[in-house]
Amino acid sequence: MDVRQTESLPLIFVPDLNAVEQSDEHRHIFSRHFEVPSVPSIGEAQRSIVESRMKSFNQNNTPDVYAGSAATGELNLRSYLTAVSQQVIGIRSTAYEFAGASGGSSFVTQWFDTRTPGMLDSRDLFGSDEGWAEFREFVAQAATANPEVIPESVTELQDSWLDSVNFDAQGNVTVEFDDYTIAPGSAGSIVVTVPSANIIPLLSPFGLMARTAGMNPMPRIPADLLGSARPGEPAQTTQEPVAETPQPRNIDCNKTKCVALTFDDGPGPKTGKLLDELEKKDAAATFFVVGPNAKTRPELIERMIAEGHEVGNHTWSHRSLPALSPAQVRSEIDRTNDAISAAIDQPATLLRPPYGARNATTDRLAQAPVILWDVDPLDWKHRNTEKVIDAAVSQTKPGSIVLMHDIHSSTVAAVPEILSRLKAKGYTFVTVTELLGQDKLKSGKTYSRAPLPPTASSKTGEKK
Ligand SMILES: [Zn+2]
Repeated sequence: MDVRQTESLPLIFVPDLNAVEQSDEHRHIFSRHFEVPSVPSIGEAQRSIVESRMKSFNQNNTPDVYAGSAATGELNLRSYLTAVSQQVIGIRSTAYEFAGASGGSSFVTQWFDTRTPGMLDSRDLFGSDEGWAEFREFVAQAATANPEVIPESVTELQDSWLDSVNFDAQGNVTVEFDDYTIAPGSAGSIVVTVPSANIIPLLSPFGLMARTAGMNPMPRIPADLLGSARPGEPAQTTQEPVAETPQPRNIDCNKTKCVALTFDDGPGPKTGKLLDELEKKDAAATFFVVGPNAKTRPELIERMIAEGHEVGNHTWSHRSLPALSPAQVRSEIDRTNDAISAAIDQPATLLRPPYGARNATTDRLAQAPVILWDVDPLDWKHRNTEKVIDAAVSQTKPGSIVLMHDIHSSTVAAVPEILSRLKAKGYTFVTVTELLGQDKLKSGKTYSRAPLPPTASSKTGEKK
């Protein structure tokens, strides 16, 4: 049973809705939550989930717990829209937490009345305490009918377990239970449905509006309105769809000092500005995009290709791939390639696994060259333009692949100076494929940098 949801933006009633990504690459923490500047309570409520989850994850997973071991924890937080109308916004947030031995998922759905400040919860969907009590009865009945549910747990149904209530296309109520609450972990996530006819008499006026909004959660902005509807971003130009990659430039990285700048986790609100800066300096880069962002901002994917950059696959959910089943790994890659293909008529040919986490199995499943890096300016950690500039410039060697993230404004602000200083040192900025050579790239093989050019290594030899 799926809960209706969408990760795609923009939406007609909340044109200023933004997805905000955060990551801690070393400790395998990734979050994607929503902010709506015109409704501040949404950002506040969403941030409170992220902050409390990160806090408890940090308490359960002190950084040295896994020192010297290949195992590592993972925290993956994501938000989805489940109901949208002029007055109602429903946001479902999922958390997957893995702490060494076992992992589990949990869910919460926050409700917002755009005309009233503050967040509403499941209880606010119901008109009275009696209505809520009756709803709990229906949930208990429906849960008992599920053979995976532990009957005793249902007789002690706690209100806090009913914190992710949504509506399906027919207006029935769905209740999602966190792993381990009413069923063994092996059962996976349990979703219980209560029929519409039983629910309607119990709902509050807000609950009735939420039900209508939840039955059709995905109103889209027509494409021709898109340009003016996204404040803070350059208006979309009606370009011809780009059918093919521009011809590779004639750069021989065996003879030239080359570096490949790579930007992960976008495209985000700052990516347009980054593309402007790269264009000014005639620098090519590679963007490893996550699926929902590619789907949200296809015009930026088109622009990347049109301006000579390369687009790579950074999966859909930013999960650590070695923790997933083979089918899940392929789905993470395929869904993202579908989103990229929708923008540029071709899938990505390179994969960068989230966190650089990989093993022989995931490399094989990648069905593409697996691109890592040798220079990590820790931009996600410092969020400091000067530090990012210094680290990127001082650590880059001929043939380097530099890891950065275009979701951070501090990184985008660092790029002009990085380009100037590296150019002064004689570097040419190329895509990953240009750096490594189209003919040398092999599916399932990992790459962290290009071999040092023969001229550079022979010079070092002479000095000995
Ligand atoms: Zn990433």
